[in-house]
Amino acid sequence: MSKPTLKGIYRPSLKAMIAFSCALLFSSCSPITSNLAGDDDPVQIPPPVDENQPLSNGSSPGSTPGSALVMLDLPAFNQRSSVNWGPILKDIVNHEAPGDSNSYGDMITLGHETTHGINSYARNSLNNSGKRANGFYLLNSKIALIEEPKMRKSQVAAFVPVPLRNSRFDLYIAGSPDWDDRPTYVLDEWIAYINGSAAGVELVKLGLWRAGWRDGVTGTMDFCVFSVALGMAIEKFDPAYFKANTQFREFLAFNLQRGMKVFFEGRKMPDFADDNLNRYYETFRDSQDAAAMRDFLYRTYGEAWVKSAVFTD
Ligand SMILES: [Zn+2]
Repeated sequence: MSKPTLKGIYRPSLKAMIAFSCALLFSSCSPITSNLAGDDDPVQIPPPVDENQPLSNGSSPGSTPGSALVMLDLPAFNQRSSVNWGPILKDIVNHEAPGDSNSYGDMITLGHETTHGINSYARNSLNNSGKRANGFYLLNSKIALIEEPKMRKSQVAAFVPVPLRNSRFDLYIAGSPDWDDRPTYVLDEWIAYINGSAAGVELVKLGLWRAGWRDGVTGTMDFCVFSVALGMAIEKFDPAYFKANTQFREFLAFNLQRGMKVFFEGRKMPDFADDNLNRYYETFRDSQDAAAMRDFLYRTYGEAWVKSAVFTD
């Protein structure tokens, strides 16, 4: 690809400076050129964007949203271990893409940035769909590939209610114009945040988190909201895609469920607790401003599933 990949970088020194800040305004993932693309594709994958896949909308017995997401195997590239890692971080690091190298003292940042590299590798080297698509590492040696909708990333912003527009909104949704023609950029950040948060929450549970307070799950919460807004924007601006591409809806449901689960666990941990974060979630769950977001989720997945998987706490 001639344009830079989505592989992003944090600035560790800046991250240290704002570790006690509620916002991650300066810990952006600025697009940089990556050399991850390669021809040594280690896996054989089926067509990743299956428009004929039935959507599990909860209406079929035994079928729940997210359960029909097509995931492809991505065997580990590395066999590393560290006493500082839990199983999730070890999983991420051992899937660090060929040619990529991440070294961060902050374990959540390590998980986040390494995930960006795996996503980039999946997008550039594993997409055999013949369509413009993006790739995402979903842990446990699984990736998913999602076709790009025909719309602009900048069209997502209007679907984020004003009270839910924060520093990450300014940076990634209203900003980052380089990715305006690739709206799944929003999903790339979402998955990197979820994987990083999941690694951090697990480290706390294992007694391995020694870095003190950090906004360990706020990015995950923010991007659950922004990714719902992406779904709403696709529904409006590329309705044919939204109707036919069941994999996008499955992907959104699958990651909403795991993202919110990580958020609910993390926000109860003193190391990650944040009153502003709780208010943000409550605005998403309860406010009139966010009613259109909840209505979108209800009509897409059914109210019962949404209340059991998204607004469970
Ligand atoms: Zn990022």
